[in-house]
Amino acid sequence: CGIVAYIGHREAYPVILKGLKRLEYRGYDSAGVALLNSGLKVYKKQGKVADLEDTLVGKDLHANIGIGHTRWATHGEPCDRNAHPHTSRNGKLSMIHNGIIENYAQIKSELIKKGYNFTSDTDTEVLLNFIDDIHTNNGGALEEAVRIALKRVVGAYVIVLLDADNPDTLIAARKGSPLVIGIGKGEHFLASDASPIIEYTKEVVYVNDYELAIIKADELILKNLGNEKVSPFITKLDMEM
Ligand code: GLU
Repeated sequence: CGIVAYIGHREAYPVILKGLKRLEYRGYDSAGVALLNSGLKVYKKQGKVADLEDTLVGKDLHANIGIGHTRWATHGEPCDRNAHPHTSRNGKLSMIHNGIIENYAQIKSELIKKGYNFTSDTDTEVLLNFIDDIHTNNGGALEEAVRIALKRVVGAYVIVLLDADNPDTLIAARKGSPLVIGIGKGEHFLASDASPIIEYTKEVVYVNDYELAIIKADELILKNLGNEKVSPFITKLDMEM
């Protein structure tokens, strides 16, 4: 399983697709992408990244910000519906996740009482709706809702969120699942490991557990779950891949 995301001046889709192929060795059963360009476009499919690619021929894939995922099903069978990215009920937020949310059942029953419907069987959609619920009630910045939600979450995760209302920002967080951010000139690359990133930049930040990243094309802010800024530690990749 794996995640790839991009924000910057390039076309996001080819960067994401190539990156997902680089991560194929990790194993997966489904693949998907979400692209943001005057509205959110989400495409996902059970099967190989190449199958997803085939179904997207001729579609408008133009975007400079996007997220991509390969899924190794833990909650819900492998099928198109359970593939990531998942979308919030107002259609504004799209999220990818690798890992497991262990206390999803409790959170899900609370959300159902509040009127949430679920279109997948995944723990991921529960976390996304939980973030959406907090965001809707609190207003304010999405990163604040993500932080509040993650404080309640038990489990392992790397998540990346795309917000149609903030088309210049990606939000990512991790605990127990890997997240590498590649720093380019006016662009950032996110991935599960450095292999999708190394052809574009050698400067990377390995995000630590319980850190949240707020990523724009030309700015990377890391915070802990207590909302304190953390200095990104930049590592220079020296391997050739
Ligand atoms: N637990 C999530 C799911 O079953 C994510 C699985 C993964 O790591 O790909 O959809």
